[in-house]
Amino acid sequence: MDLVLDKFHEECGVFGIFGHHEASTIAQLGLFALQHRGQEACGIVSSDGDDLHQFRSQGLVADALSEDVLKRLIGSSAIGHTRYSTAGKNTIKEVQPFSVTCQHGQIAVCHNGNLPYAAEKRRELEQAGAIFSSTSDTETLLHGIARTPASDVYEAIEKVLKETEGAFSLLFLTPKSLIAIRDPRGFRPLVLGKLHGAWCVASETCAFDLIDAEYIREIEAGEMLIIDENGLHSSKPFIEKPKSVCIFEHVYFSRPDSTIFGKSVNESRHKMGKQLAIEQPCDADLVVPVPDSGVAAAIGYANQSGLNYRQAIIRNHYVGRTFIEPSQSIRSFGVRLKLNPIKDLINGRRVVLVDDSIVRGTTSKKIVEMVRDAGAKEVHMRVSCPPTISPCYYGVDTPCKDDLIAARFSSPPAKGALAAFNSPPGLRRGDAASAAGWSADGVVLSAPAETNIQAICEYIGADSLGYLSLEGMLEATGLDPATACTSCWTGKYPTLIPNGKAP
Ligand code: SF4
Repeated sequence: MDLVLDKFHEECGVFGIFGHHEASTIAQLGLFALQHRGQEACGIVSSDGDDLHQFRSQGLVADALSEDVLKRLIGSSAIGHTRYSTAGKNTIKEVQPFSVTCQHGQIAVCHNGNLPYAAEKRRELEQAGAIFSSTSDTETLLHGIARTPASDVYEAIEKVLKETEGAFSLLFLTPKSLIAIRDPRGFRPLVLGKLHGAWCVASETCAFDLIDAEYIREIEAGEMLIIDENGLHSSKPFIEKPKSVCIFEHVYFSRPDSTIFGKSVNESRHKMGKQLAIEQPCDADLVVPVPDSGVAAAIGYANQSGLNYRQAIIRNHYVGRTFIEPSQSIRSFGVRLKLNPIKDLINGRRVVLVDDSIVRGTTSKKIVEMVRDAGAKEVHMRVSCPPTISPCYYGVDTPCKDDLIAARFSSPPAKGALAAFNSPPGLRRGDAASAAGWSADGVVLSAPAETNIQAICEYIGADSLGYLSLEGMLEATGLDPATACTSCWTGKYPTLIPNGKAP
């Protein structure tokens, strides 16, 4: 049975370093700190100044990138990637960084994000005779770069990305440079740091803490940063677009010890919990987090409400992805492998469970049942983000809309609501959309429907259920709401999306 908890899943983390005599070892440590962004596979490409050296493997960073492997990854610059694989695509061919040799020399790339138009581009390239070794959208980028006439690799990358729509925090490595690029909307994070004389880039600042690097700044949305022996060369070659930074990074994906989009993730989550207690108070004895992602919000909820905070559910961190369920049924088997309640704390008490999000509702249902089995008198669920009603198209593995419990338990939108709601900022209507089979005039899968909270509450078997409001969540992050992507809570997308299909 599959033991992946019912969450949205970030699809990867990236790390790069330029100008360090132990580049591949530092890259391995950086990836280790980013392991939460992908646990299925990882890889590093290093450069010795003349040639690139590659290693990719399935498995965790600490196991896959062994001392022997690192000894072979020679040179003073490196990029690395850690990956969460979606079903059916867990093969070594999909593992990044990808590398090629083409008219612009040797190039390696790793990518955090999603290029929704890549499938169409890939079909065109295949019809023209191109051969692909993976199903990845990132490989399509490399083909584009290899085929683009340009004076150098930087111009080729720039030309291709100017034509690329989607979410991309990208690292390229050539024998003599490292290139870090963030898409103009800045969906996914990317930060710059300094380790003694070396430059490093990473998905999250927690990677810098481990290697004792200094956090310098974010790579800006739309920025292309070339790092070579002469230092940093920053440019903004892409058409400016309204920013859309992923708020789910603050809710769940990023580590709480990271600074994301210039704000502390732990602080955001704590404030979300406090605001949740204001918006969704509860008469109870105990606040209990669903570990680990619910912890900071639960502490905030307890601080604000004055209720006791206890870590009454313990998480087993050593569970693999699959187990064979015994033929004699064990109730809530999958969840029990990961989470176990402390009965003495729970028995006879009215418990507020705080979780960061509810996706399908299946795990929440089992956790509520587990806490009741442990003797809870009442179980109240509080969620530190709004109901998730729509899939993500920007580099996050999400179920299709029909599987999202908050979408399933929603009343249909009022007549005309969709048209009124559909006003994407900066959208070039019709751009390649019909060719891709996408909606030319719509970026909205769903108008804001009324989520039936009571129906969800009954489904998960809780005594009450309360979500944080969109406004409350955004306020807690301290980010400008005008720069935020909130599509999975609103159904309103900042770009064109596949016409009503799951990503
Ligand atoms: Fe993040 Fe937007 Fe995707 Fe939601 S839809 S996970 S906010 S990028």
